Amino acid sequence: MRNLVLILGDQLDADSAALSGFDPQHDRVVMIECPAEATHVWSHKARIVLFLSAMRHFAELLRDRGWPVSYRATDDPAPAATLADGLIAEIGQHLPERVVVCEPGELRVREMLEQACHDSGLPLEIRPDTHFLCSSAEFTAWAGSRKVLRMEFFYREMRRRHRVLLEDGTPAGGRWNFDAANRSAFPKAGPPALPQPLRFAPDGITRAVIDLVVRRYADHPGTLEDFGWPVTHEDARTALADFIEHRLSGFGRHQDAMWTDMPFGWHSLLSVALNLKLLNPREVIAAAVDAWQRGQAPLPAVEGFVRQILGWREFVRGVYWLDMPQLLEANHFGHEHPLPAWYWTGETQMNCLHQAIGQTLRYGYAHHIQRLMVTGNFALLAGLQPRAVHEWYLAVYVDAVEWAELPNTAGMALYANSGRFTSKPYVASGAYIGRMSNYCRGCRYDPKLRSGPRACPYTVLYWNFLDRHEVEFSANPRTVLMARNISRLSPAERGAIRQSADRILATIQQL
Ligand SMILES: Cc1cc2nc3c(=O)[nH]c(=O)nc-3n(C[C@H](O)[C@H](O)[C@H](O)COP(=O)(O)OP(=O)(O)OC[C@H]3O[C@@H](n4cnc5c(N)ncnc54)[C@H](O)[C@@H]3O)c2cc1C
Ligand code: SF4
Repeated sequence: MRNLVLILGDQLDADSAALSGFDPQHDRVVMIECPAEATHVWSHKARIVLFLSAMRHFAELLRDRGWPVSYRATDDPAPAATLADGLIAEIGQHLPERVVVCEPGELRVREMLEQACHDSGLPLEIRPDTHFLCSSAEFTAWAGSRKVLRMEFFYREMRRRHRVLLEDGTPAGGRWNFDAANRSAFPKAGPPALPQPLRFAPDGITRAVIDLVVRRYADHPGTLEDFGWPVTHEDARTALADFIEHRLSGFGRHQDAMWTDMPFGWHSLLSVALNLKLLNPREVIAAAVDAWQRGQAPLPAVEGFVRQILGWREFVRGVYWLDMPQLLEANHFGHEHPLPAWYWTGETQMNCLHQAIGQTLRYGYAHHIQRLMVTGNFALLAGLQPRAVHEWYLAVYVDAVEWAELPNTAGMALYANSGRFTSKPYVASGAYIGRMSNYCRGCRYDPKLRSGPRACPYTVLYWNFLDRHEVEFSANPRTVLMARNISRLSPAERGAIRQSADRILATIQQL
């Protein structure tokens, strides 16, 4: 045999570079499900189902082409314990000249495969992941020797390079960024009638995987009753078309808003299909731009959406490969508090966290502001250990893959990498959550109080955070006003905040 082509669970792209030049006479595909990948972090049941079901569908697609596929399933009589074990067994069985793989999305996996091939005395050919619009090498060249990286400049460069939303070389509508038009909260009465995103009823393959996961991973977090994620290219394209037609026009304006029993808002829910490579970002961007050109969606909505994909998504991947492995250990503030157990159950009296974690356990999904300003903001304010927080985010979201999750968690939510790509820590008091949602109305705490037994833990910990970091905040033009606010408080007020913060941190499991 010539090439043994390993397809990983998040590489389900029929146009993958790993499959280019595939010759069914001389090559073979191998796909490996293994318990170690489901338990490496304590994965949400829906995340396990999603990966396994999408992998099984993809194997079918390749078999339908008449290609030889070795598929090692979790419910085989002797499943591979690890990816390396499965690969080594396949090498022993087929004696290929080399192993071919598309760039893995996680350093740990890349190193594991390199080691397995080295131990087997075989060359490993790692082909570039052409799914992305910016290669790691291009990102490294763009970053150069800059200590501080800014997504906005990268994004403009990407718009120019890929000629997206440009008119005669200048940005469509005369501006690169329409973010100021986005970010609105809902009126007091709540969100207007909202088109619900498509959910996909599990087919036979998915139902078999659900049964398997229920049996085998019963103690893992999350539920499966609402599993409705796309697991094939066809479903993913249907989901894209549905978003473009029904929700893109409202995307942006209420992008940051949160509301009880509104898990999805106008968000696209496409990260899952994109990260498993069931969708190509080029087709997603093209569909959004086309909707604007046809007059179906306004420019601020389309630009806001394109920025997430052509900008943020490509940017965080670039940062991941540039800053690994240090990013995994980054801990700017030296935070060491363990993760409270209720992060895994949602059983907390803080209604915002109860809502955000509750829907996470139900769907494996929360939107960006829920991740950043509810669960992430609390983790930063309470001084939770970044590594534990990272493992939680990697476990509980169906779209979680390390290249996307870690820069968002360590960099954006926790400021653990010392502001490598954010100009200030994203900290906010309960007032922000009160403004952007209705969560505080159903809460036992009061977002306006910064000390005392009914004071909102966010508000107390926010002021305590300013108190602790006053010097650092005073030195940063983006946070100097926050530092000034804490400096105006009397010593007695600051003492009361510290006392309340100590009490909250001491009883964090019971909040
Ligand atoms: C702490 C934290 C952890 C996160 N972990 C992940 C993760 O594991 N996987 C993941 O894909 N995203 C992650 N994000 C980014 C973002 O929250 C999700 O991409 C988004 O919520 C997915 O929902 P959606 O598809 O409805 O996105 P939409 O709001 O509809 O956005 C459109 C698309 O843009 C991309 N996108 C938007 N924001 C980002 C971003 N900051 N980074 C990368 N891509 C982005 C996604 O592909 C998304 O599908 C994380 C954010 C935070 C703050
Ligand atoms: S009062 Fe505080 S804890 Fe309660 S929902 Fe509002 S922000 Fe969250």
